Amino acid sequence: MSSRNGASMKERILGKKKIVIKVGTSSITYDNGKLNFRFIDQLARQISDLMNRGIQVILVTSGAIGVGVPIIGFKEKPSYLPYKQAAAAVGQGFLMNVYERIFHEYGRHVGQVLLTKGDSLNPKRYMYARGMMMALLELGVLPIINENDAVAADEIKIGDNDTLSATVASIADADLLIILSDVAGLYDKNPSRYADARLIPEVDSFSRALFRTAEGPGTARGTGGMYTKLLAAEICVHSGIDMVIARSAEPQVLYRIMDGESVGTFFRAEDVHPQMKKRKMIIGADIKGTIFVDQGCSDAVLHRGSSILPVGITGADGDFQDGDIISVRCGGEEIARGITHFSRADVEKLCGVHTSEIPQALGYAAPYDTVIHRDNLLVLH
Ligand code: GLU
Repeated sequence: MSSRNGASMKERILGKKKIVIKVGTSSITYDNGKLNFRFIDQLARQISDLMNRGIQVILVTSGAIGVGVPIIGFKEKPSYLPYKQAAAAVGQGFLMNVYERIFHEYGRHVGQVLLTKGDSLNPKRYMYARGMMMALLELGVLPIINENDAVAADEIKIGDNDTLSATVASIADADLLIILSDVAGLYDKNPSRYADARLIPEVDSFSRALFRTAEGPGTARGTGGMYTKLLAAEICVHSGIDMVIARSAEPQVLYRIMDGESVGTFFRAEDVHPQMKKRKMIIGADIKGTIFVDQGCSDAVLHRGSSILPVGITGADGDFQDGDIISVRCGGEEIARGITHFSRADVEKLCGVHTSEIPQALGYAAPYDTVIHRDNLLVLH
């Protein structure tokens, strides 16, 4: 089916290069809280194979609390927060150990990443989280992500891994999010209450009215129900990222989705210009300073999508630190804004310096060779 914004679902899926896959607690465990090795093994096999095809994959997994609860000896998920955090601390280690060993069988290394809300809201932490995830992908390592449930509580928590996975997809600039869970997709009404509920194969244009179909909480062991999945879809669709919800128990579910078969519900993303994706993070924040660049640098940024290198910088103004949002000006005009890797004091030492001379200019081995990486640069013209 071809629709509104261009290519068919299949064509869009076949073009995906970087995907985030989210699995819920109810998919990776049995009702008694013990791990479902059969599912985890199939998941690892399919993910490793997709990576062998050249697709970059990030796995977001729940289960820390769910797995930790029976290990510690609790009969059910405790409501006392420190116990829940303790369960997460135990369960997260256990879970990673299992993933590590299973992915190793398929020749893959994994890297554990535990995030909290601040990593998506604070520009500096966003920049570091993004750089780290890009590095893991570039190095061929599978990032395995969860919320840092052992230390995060309430206001610093995202709270559910559906929203976390959409946030990760946007930080990592993914082009598809696949949420695998115990539901087959989005229905036109609640399938557990209405026998005639019908699965919606494709949502072409996201609307808040969809939330009306999403009543009810998740399962006893998981956190999110359809509501949080729709929240995730909303984030993805508005960030230009397609999303699929499918039942994890479907045989070969990832292969089938990635081969373009209609499985579950496909949410078609809006056409979002890559620059617009950065807009929310960069435009909303306070500008802490300015760097001035020469015409060559300005041309490279405006016409060739380059990063800002020290060699093109002629001066700096304001009191900014690494991780702050700064403005980039050339000949009296603001050409871009972005997140700086260096403080003003360091930028002044770097003016006009060639990349190979950065360590001498700074007096230390710099962690970056760009002042603003193009991933963190919003071009204004
Ligand atoms: N982060 C939680 C865990 O690993 C799960 C949150 C969720 O299921 O959405 O146990």
